[in-house]
Amino acid sequence: MGAVVNIDVILDRALAGLELSAADAELLFTAQGSDLQRLLETADHIRRERVGDHVTYVVNRNINFTNVCVKRCGFCAFSRGHRAEEGYFFPIEEVVRRAQEAAGHGATEVCVQAGLAPRIPGSFYIDLCRALKTALPSIHLHAFSPEEVLYGATLSECTPEDYLARLKDAGLGSLPGTAAEILDDQVRDTISPGRITTADWIRIIRAAHRLGIPTSSTMMFGHIETPRHLASHLVLLRDIQNETGGFTEFVPLSFIHQQAPMYARSLVPGVRPGPSQDEVMRVYAVSRLVLQGVIANVQVSWVKQGPSLAAQCLAAGANDFGGTLMNESISTAAGADHGHFLAPQDMRRWIRAAGRMPAERSTTYRILRMFGESDEMPEAAPMFESYRQITQSSEFRFRAAAFS
Ligand code: SF4
Repeated sequence: MGAVVNIDVILDRALAGLELSAADAELLFTAQGSDLQRLLETADHIRRERVGDHVTYVVNRNINFTNVCVKRCGFCAFSRGHRAEEGYFFPIEEVVRRAQEAAGHGATEVCVQAGLAPRIPGSFYIDLCRALKTALPSIHLHAFSPEEVLYGATLSECTPEDYLARLKDAGLGSLPGTAAEILDDQVRDTISPGRITTADWIRIIRAAHRLGIPTSSTMMFGHIETPRHLASHLVLLRDIQNETGGFTEFVPLSFIHQQAPMYARSLVPGVRPGPSQDEVMRVYAVSRLVLQGVIANVQVSWVKQGPSLAAQCLAAGANDFGGTLMNESISTAAGADHGHFLAPQDMRRWIRAAGRMPAERSTTYRILRMFGESDEMPEAAPMFESYRQITQSSEFRFRAAAFS
């Protein structure tokens, strides 16, 4: 008879730096009460050993240049059909203007992701990169999910590999590893029929890493997934990282249910209203134990979890506070009520309140500036318009005819 595997045995293995299996992770995802407490303490210890006590953040701006999309993912409250009154589309010069404004406020990165607008030219994403890098050569362009890369490649009638190479030539710095949700086709077909497949997501991420384009990695939880799905997802990401080394970070993302069509319109039976606080903490802790230092950085999402819970997750294995965002739209549209901008000084305040020291980083985790116990002279935070203001304004109304 084999040895009985219980949570303590798995925690000891993790403390010894051993690689956990998917079955180990699945069991950890059931931890409750005192088991959960020991899991959190173990994750905090491993985080300290692997990456130290500083908590990093990046000054960036999200530019979601259109909310018009040809797909209908069940969790997405951001997208609009091309005839919808609230559909908007920023022309390239407006995206550049927003990036310049962000750089003026100290941003080192712009994060560009959007809906898949109908009838855009296949070269659109490449033209956008080129325009941004021409105007702002030193800004890091963190842009386009694997879904958008696939869309651009399909419109251009080329392979995603060729399209990625063209994006890199045009100045793309890194890719958000979004559109991952849960990398299991059964789950994907239920919550987002027609979404990029698991195989295509992996193919595009691997191709990006081979080309020297780093990516982040993500997982959306708190909907219909089970502990088995979460465990397999984490092990899959770890396997890719062991092969390519191209992931900069892992970002668990709580499902925001309020306005998500699959919840609000009961489109998916059994869908849960997002994760509980315990679930969020548990996901962070198990992620740290499975990823150890292989994917060294585990990022909280203040926009999904709120800054208070995000700060608590720093004691459950996380070491990065994410970006300032300036115009977060996607979670805000889904009903997250934590705002669309967290000023750098507010990030530092939350990090210090969690008993840790803040450090500003680049997109690829180069430390740009360390901070001490307090800010000498906190600067005034700038103001940016909300998603609602963007959709209500007629200034950038989407006109499909513009591309025909
Ligand atoms: S998640 Fe992305 S692809 Fe899916 S509907 Fe929303 S904007 Fe479109």
